[in-house]
Amino acid sequence: MENGVDRKSALNALENFINIKLQNYESKRNYDYGPAAHENVSLLSPYIRHRIITEEEVMARAISKFPLPKIEKFIQEVFWRTYWKGWLELRPKVWADYKESIKKNDINQLYERIISLNSGIDCFDSWTQELLETNYLHNHARMWYASIWIHTLKLPWSLGANLFLNNLLDGDPASNTLSWRWVAGIQTKGKSYLAKDWNIQKFTKNRFEPKESDFSAIPAKVNYIDYKMNSIKFHEANEFDWDQSGLLVTSEDMHVLSSNRIDFPLQNAYILALTDTEKANYSKNVSNFKQAISLSNKELLSSHIQDIEMQSMDLDQIEQITSWAQQKNIKNIVTLACPCGHVRDFINILKNGLKKESINIIKIYRDYDMKYWNLASGSFFNFFKKAIKKI
Ligand SMILES: Cc1cc2nc3c(=O)[nH]c(=O)nc-3n(C[C@H](O)[C@H](O)[C@H](O)COP(=O)(O)OP(=O)(O)OC[C@H]3O[C@@H](n4cnc5c(N)ncnc54)[C@H](O)[C@@H]3O)c2cc1C
Repeated sequence: MENGVDRKSALNALENFINIKLQNYESKRNYDYGPAAHENVSLLSPYIRHRIITEEEVMARAISKFPLPKIEKFIQEVFWRTYWKGWLELRPKVWADYKESIKKNDINQLYERIISLNSGIDCFDSWTQELLETNYLHNHARMWYASIWIHTLKLPWSLGANLFLNNLLDGDPASNTLSWRWVAGIQTKGKSYLAKDWNIQKFTKNRFEPKESDFSAIPAKVNYIDYKMNSIKFHEANEFDWDQSGLLVTSEDMHVLSSNRIDFPLQNAYILALTDTEKANYSKNVSNFKQAISLSNKELLSSHIQDIEMQSMDLDQIEQITSWAQQKNIKNIVTLACPCGHVRDFINILKNGLKKESINIIKIYRDYDMKYWNLASGSFFNFFKKAIKKI
């Protein structure tokens, strides 16, 4: 990643984008100029995905500089993340089924084939290389890549999604899983995304000249499931005593200082950079990135929290957190509620483990998430119509 990993770098990158690039974002954003040349998009996603900067503040800064109609496309893009999170939250079984489907397949053999860069489709191999080396792909490249993976190479969508999740610095359970489902044609029934040679040539400014025959004109057969929708119940935290509590900070939502529900200064916090599952699956670059952003968050929080413990990478996480809570005499572990994904799965297991020790996990929802997630029951455009009125 070109910029630094701390919040100051994220805020600088945001200001830089707003001052220089935002006014032309809508007309320029669709072009993929290739590695080290993505100057037409914000590249903010690794920061926003981990809430080093929040969706809310990104939109507020942009709107403070330009009238909303002039930058509506950018606001829409930021809202896509919120929409996907809400959509998955309403249908968590989609995430559970995705994880199951990965387990059933022989991933290693397939990935070895993909990373040998011998698919016979130049642009596809080039994006594989860019993904593995830079841990970023332009939005269009992600769409084209997923389309070739699913509809041309006839590979299972979930294995492509898994390759992305493990290798993107912004890898996100909701945006990633649901975007892959959308390309496959199972997110919106009957609508799949088929990449076209002319489209790739045009929007890569002739960096690639793929052949029409590289692309399937017929969508791959995929299994559509009509998932039943829950409503999201935001269980408000019961009254609890902050003196007997410690804060668990995860890489899902790092800017805890912006939550109006946490009473700073605090006595104790624990920083979890990576769960055991993430450690086992994410590429070295992604794991290192999560450790680096967590370490810089520790520094940022040190003037607001007296005693901060950071996860040790080679020890079991449940044991570490339990012994941290016992040593500090913590009865409540308070954490910002995570959306569907590996970290939330871990916290649910942790919660059961801690019950035996009479330690509670208390989840605090952000106002922003409570305002928007339940609006994601239908299409994005339905969501956006309602969401934009609430900014
Ligand atoms: C198959 C596929 C997989 C994807 N996987 C991920 C993923 O794992 N994590 C992830 O963060 N995004 C994912 N995206 C969405 C999108 O490609 C990236 O968010 C975007 O390319 C990030 O680059 P940027 O910050 O320069 O975006 P910009 O164009 O500058 O957009 C500004 C911000 O809006 C948000 N955003 C933009 N487009 C989307 C979108 N389609 N969905 C959600 N948020 C969006 C991001 O926070 C981004 O930083 C995926 C898209 C596809 C098609």
